[in-house]
Amino acid sequence: MAGLYVHIPFCKSRCIYCDFYSTTREAEKEAYVNALCREITARKRELAHTRVHTIYIGGGTPSLLSSEQLNHILCKLHEEYEVEEDAEVTVEMNPEDVINKESGENEKVQVNRVSLGIQTFDEKLLRLLRRRHTAQTAVRAVRELQDTGFDNISIDLIYGLPGQTMELWERDLDKAFGLGVQHLSAYALSYEEGTPLWRMQQQGEVREVNEILSVNMFELLCRRAKEAGFLHYEISNFAQPGRRSRHNSSYWTGEPYLGFGPGAHSYDGQRIRRANNADLSAYLQAEVAPATFETLTNEELYDEAVMCGLRTARGIDLCEVERRFGQQRSDYLQQMAHPHIKAGRLVVEEGRLHLSEDALMVSDDIMSDLML
Ligand code: SF4
Repeated sequence: MAGLYVHIPFCKSRCIYCDFYSTTREAEKEAYVNALCREITARKRELAHTRVHTIYIGGGTPSLLSSEQLNHILCKLHEEYEVEEDAEVTVEMNPEDVINKESGENEKVQVNRVSLGIQTFDEKLLRLLRRRHTAQTAVRAVRELQDTGFDNISIDLIYGLPGQTMELWERDLDKAFGLGVQHLSAYALSYEEGTPLWRMQQQGEVREVNEILSVNMFELLCRRAKEAGFLHYEISNFAQPGRRSRHNSSYWTGEPYLGFGPGAHSYDGQRIRRANNADLSAYLQAEVAPATFETLTNEELYDEAVMCGLRTARGIDLCEVERRFGQQRSDYLQQMAHPHIKAGRLVVEEGRLHLSEDALMVSDDIMSDLML
């Protein structure tokens, strides 16, 4: 099984915290779709005889493409790859684009999951982040998608925003769980070097929330998700039963995936990683998408297995570690895990090692203890 990721590197404007590769040069959308289709066709041999069970169109802002352009890309993927009939097909959308689409415009697109970048329902914080939607637009967007028949909607929220209090976060969670969506991704705000937000922090214009508040916000998130019947299946991801993101889950289980577009990453499921260069102009001009390749060593593969395994509620399959990396490495893992198991931070269940609920906030420290 494999996944396909398509990167759409266009945004109407840039949000201050974002370090994803995207540009506001929207005039190049048509040429970009053609270049994408070229890459999709050129790389089909990489997944010969492998069935595709997930497609994810992310960005940037995929909802800036017209339905025709999205259809064109999806049809090309179906034409060139063995896409399962019940494949999960996700498109990321910004709330304002859901409202702006003419009714019925989505009908031809074979999309069964939508991921909406809401981030917060607080107007002041939305403006600070330079998001283009209002809280009301976000709610309307969810309602319109539900009215159109979408029953697999994910929303993104960010917590730990400058000036965000526990009360404001609680209000965001109330709104989020009141919408009847099936999936929630919630991330702590990070100040990525080079972003406008990072510069504002450097100049003292905004301040990071303190660690205690951030931990409290995460704990509230976990509690509220549980009360709403959501499963906490990955550190930042919560889903109603049966509604996990199959696409993202395959990243954590080491399945192969192909990423198309500038800045997109691919993995062959063995040890080769590919990163397309994050350069739209070069991508549009090149016959073959420019990329760099990396061959992972056994040590790097082990570290990834630990990191990805511990991020998820499924944890690390201990037999699998022994099978892939040998007895010595398996002994090392058990030895390093032992003090955490004794302290209740790690749990072994049915041959799998996973974080206890209380240890989710210190997952980074535990991961680095188990890594090489
Ligand atoms: S957060 Fe999304 S919409 Fe905002 S700049 Fe980044 S990719 Fe574009």
